[in-house]
Amino acid sequence: MKKPRLGFFKYSCCAGCEFQVMYFQKHVLETLKNFEFIFARMLLRGGNPHGPFDIALVEGTITEAWQADELKKIREKSTLLFAIGSCAVDGGIPAIKSTMPELDVESKVYADITTIHSIRPHAIDAYIKVDGYIRGCPPGERDLAEALSSVLSDKKPDFINYSVCVECKLKGNVCVLVAYGMPCMGPVTNAGCGALCPSMNRACYACFGPMKQANGPALARKFKMMGLSKEDIKRRFTEFGADTLEFRRALDILED
Ligand code: SF4
Ligand code: SF4
Ligand code: SF4
Repeated sequence: MKKPRLGFFKYSCCAGCEFQVMYFQKHVLETLKNFEFIFARMLLRGGNPHGPFDIALVEGTITEAWQADELKKIREKSTLLFAIGSCAVDGGIPAIKSTMPELDVESKVYADITTIHSIRPHAIDAYIKVDGYIRGCPPGERDLAEALSSVLSDKKPDFINYSVCVECKLKGNVCVLVAYGMPCMGPVTNAGCGALCPSMNRACYACFGPMKQANGPALARKFKMMGLSKEDIKRRFTEFGADTLEFRRALDILED
């Protein structure tokens, strides 16, 4: 049987997702052997960026107009396309800049902003239809394996769609929010990491991004009652979710 053709594309980000894919635990690496890598800028010398692809994995946030144009072309040449990592799924860390006026951010970073042509940062699904989301910063193994095996077995992928709290309770952890008053983002964050941070007695900081229909305002109100400052609450909801409705809505209660 012919191996499915895989392309891995990168926009504004740290490229950690692409490396994470290659260094993942054994069974994802085993699964990857069943694919033909056609293009992966960080991993392959050369390669063919024009496709066609049976599966495209796209990491990074769209922060420049040319990226959106190129992304649309990749979509046309790909049977399935998955967003991988918080940057591509939710806007991630690059989207923090949308919490400040564009020119202020650019002036803080660059001495000369005349050569900077960035646009408001967005997750890739602001521009194209996506077949699924492999969440996390860096991404989780389980959802990546699900995406890859769905291609091999020609079935619809079944991604995790519940909160970190569910994984945390299944592990029998003591709740750091209730027991120790730590500002844990677990109730509003999509699962997939195995409740990594609470399992180490640390608060979740939402690197898997918001769970769909998360009640951000309720958790922000709770943090306010716990005595967190407005700036601290804002930082927690915008570190990975500045481009998401679920987390941006939480900021409204800070004006109450
Ligand atoms: S999601 Fe995280 S690991 Fe992946 S590219 Fe973005 S910042 Fe890097
Ligand atoms: S520690 Fe955090 S993730 Fe775990 S149950 Fe409590 S709030 Fe949820
Ligand atoms: S517990 Fe939260 S911050 Fe920690 S890895 Fe999981 S999603 Fe990311």
